[in-house]
Amino acid sequence: MSILVTGGAGYIGSHVALELLSKNEEIVIIDNMQKGHKSAILGGKFYKGDIRDREFMDEVFSRNDISAVIHFAANSLVGESVTVPLKYYDNNVYGTQCLLEKMVEYGVKHIVFSSTAATYGEPERIPIQETDRTLPTNPYGDTKLAIERMLRWCDEAYGIKSVCLRYFNAAGAHKSGMIGEDHRPETHLVPIVMEAALGKREYVQIFGDDYDTPDGTCIRDYIHVSDLAKAHILALESLRAGNGSKVYNLGNGEGFSVKEVIECARKVTGREIKSVISPRRAGDPAVLVASSDRIRKELGWSPEEDDLETILSSAWEWHRKHPDGYPD
Ligand code: UDP
Repeated sequence: MSILVTGGAGYIGSHVALELLSKNEEIVIIDNMQKGHKSAILGGKFYKGDIRDREFMDEVFSRNDISAVIHFAANSLVGESVTVPLKYYDNNVYGTQCLLEKMVEYGVKHIVFSSTAATYGEPERIPIQETDRTLPTNPYGDTKLAIERMLRWCDEAYGIKSVCLRYFNAAGAHKSGMIGEDHRPETHLVPIVMEAALGKREYVQIFGDDYDTPDGTCIRDYIHVSDLAKAHILALESLRAGNGSKVYNLGNGEGFSVKEVIECARKVTGREIKSVISPRRAGDPAVLVASSDRIRKELGWSPEEDDLETILSSAWEWHRKHPDGYPD
């Protein structure tokens, strides 16, 4: 029996794949390699292909005894999604529809889904609870919310049980130093700050300093990618134990502003990191901080690397060792 990891050559997918391998799970990774990296795949079977390609998906499902799916394959850039929304509906929503069709066809009943804090939009209150209003302010969040809804109806119709994990801001790298964060082009704050520390960028752009926050810059809840990865194992165990479909937030419950992240990175790296104030980025809510009480209580999740300095130190380790990212 194997776990199918879609998008397993990406940042979070590769960390979850490694966590599964460390638990002696058999895994099958699929990735279309538009954003993934060959060197981020450290074990298991690998098939290159797209979740929207029915023939390809048939090959994967027919050749392997898949018992559950952990689904990462998606486009995930807030800014880009505002510019080219249809790319997001196609890859994320339609892609997941294709995946679910195969799960129905092959009788696979368990899926852990990579969702996002962007499903909430402008939060009603902080920290955000799972029961709070979901009104995305960008197409990326909207596609993820549409998928959550699709999953709910697939449970009703086909008995497919899902755990949707609404990630806040994943950051950091695996302690082995073998895998880390490498997006091309890079748009995420933490790797951009590290590139500035390495001298690969002249400065970090701060997208807006006129938000309604103490220092005017956006506040986010940064969570170590390894703590995130561990939650996927717990989610899988919960489904295997026969529990029903669930939605969980995943964050540390503490928010840091863009300026605070840059300041902490200066401390961790000992490097000068220049910053300039730039216009706001479309679709960015001012503050996103999670309440993770539900997953702590129900699945016993507790983060081990939850302070910002630890998270940024692990990111720095990765970027120092891999100044040009992955070789492929
Ligand atoms: N951000 C920034 N400069 C950058 C990249 C990001 O000021 O070069 C801000 C962004 O506006 C957001 C926060 O940093 O408030 C985190 O952005 P990121 O893209 O890392 O993650 P997201 O919150 O979009 O998932």
